[in-house]
Amino acid sequence: MSIAQHIADPSPPKAIRLLPDPGTGRPVEQSEPDLLRYLSASRLKCWQTCRRQFFYRYVERITVPTAPALFIGRQIHEVLRLWNWGKWKQEPLSPEQLRAALNESWERDAAKEFIPWKTPDDEAVAREQSWAMLETYFDQCPVPPEEHPEGVEVEVECSLGPGLPPLYGIIDLVRPPGRIVDYKSAARSPGDEMAVHQHATQLACYAVLYRNATGERETGFELHHLIKTKVPKVVVSTYGPMSAAMESELFFLIDDYLDGIVREAWVPSPGQHCAWCDHLALCRKRSGM
Ligand code: SF4
Repeated sequence: MSIAQHIADPSPPKAIRLLPDPGTGRPVEQSEPDLLRYLSASRLKCWQTCRRQFFYRYVERITVPTAPALFIGRQIHEVLRLWNWGKWKQEPLSPEQLRAALNESWERDAAKEFIPWKTPDDEAVAREQSWAMLETYFDQCPVPPEEHPEGVEVEVECSLGPGLPPLYGIIDLVRPPGRIVDYKSAARSPGDEMAVHQHATQLACYAVLYRNATGERETGFELHHLIKTKVPKVVVSTYGPMSAAMESELFFLIDDYLDGIVREAWVPSPGQHCAWCDHLALCRKRSGM
């Protein structure tokens, strides 16, 4: 039986659950040893990109240094989470509090991870650049300051049917009425079409989660890009709700994922994306190159 048949009778919707408070931590992929215990957008996206990369990340669980761009993105994300959380609680944070939050998060995480900065000055430059990107976003944010979020860091899990792993995800922000927002930090502006193409799996996962949790259809998606140019920019891409075709593609992918895990089909997919794969050297060696 296909996944699509299973979701014909989904579990009853349950209320969206907000995380209790910033700073309590969030589940991480590394804490989950069982590949079939749950599905997530990041697991599905990695599977879609390259099954061999998936094997290195989730089966062999090879730890790699945190790429500076990834670290910067996480820090920006954390400050935006606190900013939205303050709005949700109707206790907005001042610029000084937000800057202090960036410093605190940065120092806490940098002490725990190895980040291969190219020069000793790079880290300080990156922190200033991150703050400049955030300041630009606060200044140009398309969300009116008085707008109350429907949800912030919305942690959702939904059943896909009997015997199937649940789908799990955390949605950055839900704006009224039912607009799903995801933050991205990037080196250059994406076009609207390319952005939705690249992130279709993630957006479809969020739509399935949102619909299951609320019993309603999302009204659309927004991708808020914080662009790391010399003078930072904000680019917002807006889309309508998940189409039937997007939903079908997601469930084809889930079928393929579940089948492939059982068959241990860790087939490599060499391509341009190998240039930023954490496991390129190992992959080349094992492939006899
Ligand atoms: S180097 Fe390319 S083919 Fe090898 S694991 Fe990484 S993405 Fe896949």
